[in-house]
Amino acid sequence: MRKQRARKKSKKLLSTNNLIIMHCSVSIGQCAHIFYHIIINHYICSQKTERFVIAQKSQNSVIEKIVSLAKRRGFVFQSSEIYGGLNGCWDYGPLGVELLKNIKEEWWKAMTYREDVEGLDAAILMHPRVWEASGHVENFTDPMIDCKQCKSRFRLDTLGDAIAEKKKEKILETVKINLSADTEKSTVFSKALSERPNISEQFEHLLEVKELAFDVLSEVNCPTCGTKGQFTEPRSFNLMFKTFIGPVESSENVVYLRPETAQGIFVNFLNVQSSSRQKLPFGIAQIGKAFRNEINTKNFLFRTREFEQMEMQYFVKPDDDKKHFDDWKARRLQWFKSLGMTPEKLRYHDHPKDKLAHYAKEATDIEYEFPFGWGEIEGIHNRTNFDLSRHQEYSGKSQLYFDDETKEKFVPFIIETSAGASRSFMAFLVDAYYEEEVNGEVRSVLRFHPKLAPIKAAILPLVNKDGMPEIARKIESDLRPYMRIFYDDKGAIGRRYRRMDEVGTPFCITVDTQTLTDNSVTLRERDSMKQERISIDNLLDELMKRLR
Ligand SMILES: [Zn+2]
Repeated sequence: MRKQRARKKSKKLLSTNNLIIMHCSVSIGQCAHIFYHIIINHYICSQKTERFVIAQKSQNSVIEKIVSLAKRRGFVFQSSEIYGGLNGCWDYGPLGVELLKNIKEEWWKAMTYREDVEGLDAAILMHPRVWEASGHVENFTDPMIDCKQCKSRFRLDTLGDAIAEKKKEKILETVKINLSADTEKSTVFSKALSERPNISEQFEHLLEVKELAFDVLSEVNCPTCGTKGQFTEPRSFNLMFKTFIGPVESSENVVYLRPETAQGIFVNFLNVQSSSRQKLPFGIAQIGKAFRNEINTKNFLFRTREFEQMEMQYFVKPDDDKKHFDDWKARRLQWFKSLGMTPEKLRYHDHPKDKLAHYAKEATDIEYEFPFGWGEIEGIHNRTNFDLSRHQEYSGKSQLYFDDETKEKFVPFIIETSAGASRSFMAFLVDAYYEEEVNGEVRSVLRFHPKLAPIKAAILPLVNKDGMPEIARKIESDLRPYMRIFYDDKGAIGRRYRRMDEVGTPFCITVDTQTLTDNSVTLRERDSMKQERISIDNLLDELMKRLR
């Protein structure tokens, strides 16, 4: 009896193991497939209407190709991929980390190699009062609903995007009939409608009206599973990641992973100003990670839960705000262009006055035209004296600046330039991607600006004999201290060129038969594919000149 039970047990164990093994082999085999599936799903979630999905299909295949290339060549991997991935988090691979580092370095040089901007690297964890002063504890929330049927979660304010205009009209008609017996609600309903011109705005607005939101939701079909009226009541959801300092998980030990790097700059305003003896106007620049517990992450690196910001806060006299705002607005757009981004794919999106954040006087986004549409890659904001005044109020420490020319004391205004390093990475990657036909074959090429390219030059001996590898290795070791080099002696030379084109390496140096007689190599340029002969002695100078 006991034996039998034991055998049964082992049989059960065995079958469980088999199941696990089977499951694993499927997972590994289909890893790439699942990866794309996740991306595509993100797309579909983010699409506004079905029509849009169809119209965007061909453009999205560009993104699919880039995501596939990014994984295959080691630019970006999904976080914790072997465990099925962690939503909204990505890892930068060997080439990705180089590209990202180059972007950040160019930004750092452009922003801080100036007399009037200082650098800073503030801690990610800050005093919890910082986030009360900044308004994040109270206001950094999204109203959110869940579908009880399929457990999908939606942001209430963007739910309308997934519903067709006709359908919304129908829903509003039904709600009106449902409410007709309730005079009080009917009045609120009619008033809410009269304030908005079109159906979509009426729909969106009704979801914001507390006493009516649920009446509207009960007539809405879940955009994921189609079930009607199975939504939870809207709840507000703070986007900050919360954790605890020390071993006790109590409310007085709460700290947050910063949702933006800006606050670290604001609270250090006087430290930096007095230690560097800067006078207005001057700026503080910082690159660092920030975290937002986004409900819906989407579009590859575009909206992620962990991301990197490149922010500069420029402190100015209140009367000079407009001048500096316009100046930084122009400079920042120019920065993207100077690193080779297609000018036609860049534009400003000025925020209309009634859509400005509570602290802002003027705001503009620099947008890039991604395959899925225009998206913000940087924001320039006139934050007025809001931030420093709030910190003065909450900390009880004066944040006044003393102007020793006019003998005035005042809280400076702040012009902020806030760029996403991760978003810039994606924009530069997408912008550089080209497919073209060369000799009847498709060549995919990343046309990175040489300053951004992860690998600057490849050294390729034509054949692995006749002393060519020795010369190539010598060139490699001479160049390595100055730039990132890749040595490749595997396969036909044409294939080796293609592999370098695909990761955006601007120069290929080939050691061939002629090298043996005249000490020259060919220098091949990635975009034109033109080759010229150059003496090995001049190689470093020539490369340094072209990489600038
Ligand atoms: Zn559902």
